[in-house]
Amino acid sequence: MTNPLLTDWTTPFELPPFDMISDDDFAPGLEQALTLARAELATITTNPDAPTFTNTIEALELMGDKLNKVLSPFYTLAAVDSTPKREALQREFSPKLAAWGSEVMMNRALFERVEALYQARDTLDLTAEQLRVLYLSRRNFVRAGAQLEGGAYERLKQVKERLAVLGTEFTQNLLADERDWFMELSQDDLEGLPDFLKATAKAAAAEKGVEGHVLTLSRSLIVPFLQFSPRRDLREVAYEAWVARGANGGKTDNREIAAEILALRHERAQLLGYENFAAYKLETEMAKTPDAVRKLLMDVWGPAKTQAEADAAILTEMMHGDGVNGDLEAWDWRYYSEKRRAVEHDLDEAALKPYLQLENMIEAAFDCSSRLFGLNFKPLEVPLHHPDAKAWDVTRDGQHVAVFIGDYFARSGKRSGAWCSAFRSQQKLKGDIRPHVINVCNFAKGEPALLSYDDARTLFHEFGHALHQMLSNVTYESISGTSVARDFVELPSQLYEHWLEVPEVLQKHARHADTGAPMPEALLKQMLKAANYDQGFATVEYVASALVDLAFHDGPAPTDPMAKQADVLDSIGMPHAIRMRHATPHFAHVFAGDGYSSGYYSYMWSEVMDADAFEAFEEAGGAFDPDMAAKLEQFILSTGGSQEADALYMAFRGKMPGVEALLKGRGLAA
Ligand SMILES: [Zn+2]
Repeated sequence: MTNPLLTDWTTPFELPPFDMISDDDFAPGLEQALTLARAELATITTNPDAPTFTNTIEALELMGDKLNKVLSPFYTLAAVDSTPKREALQREFSPKLAAWGSEVMMNRALFERVEALYQARDTLDLTAEQLRVLYLSRRNFVRAGAQLEGGAYERLKQVKERLAVLGTEFTQNLLADERDWFMELSQDDLEGLPDFLKATAKAAAAEKGVEGHVLTLSRSLIVPFLQFSPRRDLREVAYEAWVARGANGGKTDNREIAAEILALRHERAQLLGYENFAAYKLETEMAKTPDAVRKLLMDVWGPAKTQAEADAAILTEMMHGDGVNGDLEAWDWRYYSEKRRAVEHDLDEAALKPYLQLENMIEAAFDCSSRLFGLNFKPLEVPLHHPDAKAWDVTRDGQHVAVFIGDYFARSGKRSGAWCSAFRSQQKLKGDIRPHVINVCNFAKGEPALLSYDDARTLFHEFGHALHQMLSNVTYESISGTSVARDFVELPSQLYEHWLEVPEVLQKHARHADTGAPMPEALLKQMLKAANYDQGFATVEYVASALVDLAFHDGPAPTDPMAKQADVLDSIGMPHAIRMRHATPHFAHVFAGDGYSSGYYSYMWSEVMDADAFEAFEEAGGAFDPDMAAKLEQFILSTGGSQEADALYMAFRGKMPGVEALLKGRGLAA
């Protein structure tokens, strides 16, 4: 029998035929697809004809088509409905796919063809999009080290392998420290804690095989403990244990690992011809240079610090009022901040929830996209990867635009968090291929399912990513949809969250589950205001971490990262009662892998843009201004990575974003 993964799919819109696929099809499917892809690669590299854009770059774009048909359904299933069998398949696939990746990226003959085309690019009569695809393809090869020879090539390989080992060790040490530390809480110690926290502490004790209640370093336990425990002595012990993760001496200490990682990254960058790791890393980002990142962070730092210091004075006074003298310390901040919040923002989450029904919030996300971009959504009856998932046919003026799939409910076997991915991306090289996009969330099931305000934001956020895929209009898949710089990819998603804050959207869609009444205006206002609380603190702890991350990579590697960290914090005048959101020995974003190394800034970079971009709508005539919506689609949502991100933003907005809108949004504007 033929493998259903590898046949031509005759399902509606050529969706993966989930009712025919079984787990047993994936491993043989991968083998066959890899064999086919290797043959395609050989056809390109052994072609006796001189390289052309068609026989090399377009052939590369088309290579591995069957591989995608096997892997996109597999990785979706593995993430949303994991089983021991699927986990075993993942372990089996990952070295095979890594080897395949190296075969392509380290292929000398292939790189020489790409390089020849790149050098002759001005004579090839290419479109702007083709030039861009050629440029990006060559850049990927160069950044992977395809240009290097002999000793340098061997050394790069060693460095990469050692970095992979160190990243894993860093993570495992952190997990060990988080797992090993706990503090038993007596009945007296529980005084003042809310019921949910006592219940969590009891469950944590049961898990450790201990009677009673324990505190662990899990974020969902330690943070509420610091918020609610009136016992200053216990808060201090707990806080110091929390921030000592990865720095406890002995086998699980991460400080030397961090130093070695930084040294190897610097060497890697220099082998590839870059001045330092930050220059290497930021080359592909919108920010482009360490100076641009530093400027953004420092523009935010001043106002955030001013706000935090004003808040610290208020919290200190509250503490003195409690009869505790001396300075406000890091273990006091969350406790007094929570007390202050209860007074200033008396928001009743329980009263809010019945107004935010999942079905209505999906409807709200669809409705906004109808008003902005003319999209329509019709439910589709098709076999999907799980019975909880639902599909819609997305159309505009009667034309099919995309298939949108929502898989919203939490269940065991589903990875935590929320994300957007695609079974297939938009492109035109193989004909007019329209995308199949999926949003995955982890909302609690219920009759009806009710969301928190945070959940509703997540739903809008992921739908913003989905729009970036669905409205994509490019020729080449490698630059389609969300294939853009990391510090640009969160713009469409974070921007879409703003439409949830438009009062008329909630007035229309936030209706009480029992009575159907719209959300009372006072509650709506309170909800929107509460989202902005304690931003001085949040911004200071984040920006400090981002500045340390940048300093680590912008220059020769520091031999003593802890001393470097102290220097940076000293130079910016870190407020006494706030510490970095992630200190070096547990800064997993930066050391567990390469993902956010010299890239921790990018959350704020995107936020600067989304705040500024939404302001463009408000300046133009409101959240649903049709001209701005058209521009957003034309220059950002349809263009994928076909141009540099700053050029796209400039075309959309007519100017580069400043930090003013972000500061206003966070309540930090003077
Ligand atoms: Zn996102």
